[in-house]
Amino acid sequence: TPSKDGKMFIRALFDYDPNEDKAIPCKEAGLSFRRGDILQVMSQDDATWWQAKQEGDANPRAGLIPSKHFQERRLALRRPEVLVQPLKVSNRKSSGFRRSFRLSRKDKKTNKSMYECKKSDQYDTADVPTYEEVTPYRRQTNEKYRLVVLVGPVGVGLNELKRKLLTSDTQHYGVTVPHTTRARRSQESDGVEYIFISKHLFETDVQNNKFIEYGEYKNNYYGTSIDSVRSVLAKNKVCLLDVQPHTVKHLRTLEFKPYVIFIKPPSIERLRETRKNAKIISSRDDQGAVKPFTEEDFQEMIKSAQIMESQYGHLFDKIIINDDLTEAFNELKTTFDKLETETHWIPVSWLH
Ligand code: 5GP
Repeated sequence: TPSKDGKMFIRALFDYDPNEDKAIPCKEAGLSFRRGDILQVMSQDDATWWQAKQEGDANPRAGLIPSKHFQERRLALRRPEVLVQPLKVSNRKSSGFRRSFRLSRKDKKTNKSMYECKKSDQYDTADVPTYEEVTPYRRQTNEKYRLVVLVGPVGVGLNELKRKLLTSDTQHYGVTVPHTTRARRSQESDGVEYIFISKHLFETDVQNNKFIEYGEYKNNYYGTSIDSVRSVLAKNKVCLLDVQPHTVKHLRTLEFKPYVIFIKPPSIERLRETRKNAKIISSRDDQGAVKPFTEEDFQEMIKSAQIMESQYGHLFDKIIINDDLTEAFNELKTTFDKLETETHWIPVSWLH
């Protein structure tokens, strides 16, 4: 379905090298691309091989790329190897958020969502990333900011980066206030550190799909509500949200237009050099103790980053390597400036 002016653009969600492709009729005619590249589709006449070129490429000659249908089918066949290592997730759960979206969008009448929700884990794995049709989008000055989602492994420095951004411009950046059922401590105020609610209300809110994610810690619930994101955006601020990557797909709507940034660790050698004196909030023991990084922490960080990237890389708009904190912070800043002023590609599916 080409857009109004007859041009159709897609974002490639996988890397492709025609020289490695045994199926392509002529390797020289193939177009190579990387995940994240924007391609202009010139012809879909053939069911197996489309013709496309890199967006913005002045050379009018198109190359062959596997069609969506063909690529989906052969990727689905190869899929088991991708699933060998399931992503280790913390106690955070993505709640019925998925269900709420289904309900409000298409299944209102049939209530089919309850059934689909049960099968959602299988659904995730069947979802093979190939191409996504995209369209240019540029934020108008009076428009709300896009939601910025930061993902990355434990210890990579996501919280430091978030804190640095917040303090660099408190008027411009904001974070969500989480809900909790634990008692308020004397120095805390309602609505600042947390929104304090009863267990009963929390459970009702979970049932009503009000949370993006929630978890249990020491017999209390903690969670991030959808409304808490809305209230940051309503203040005309850029909302910085860090969540497990598996929650991202539920946030991909026109309302939030999430821009997903993956904070990636550098090589293990650089981790050893740069984090020698740094500390990590231990994810292994329940106390959340702050301790110096161990070799095991570094290895776990790298492994976790690799799994995240292989399972969810197609959802990342930007990858920033946090080698030197100041450099990573500057790169983040530049990314934000561009996000607010330049044209970006968003999925056409958000518009429907
Ligand atoms: P505290 O009760 O000391 O303020 O927080 C204890 C723990 O609650 C934190 O270390 C964190 O693991 C968890 N927590 C805080 N906010 C959230 C949230 O929004 N979602 C989830 N799942 N856990 C949270």
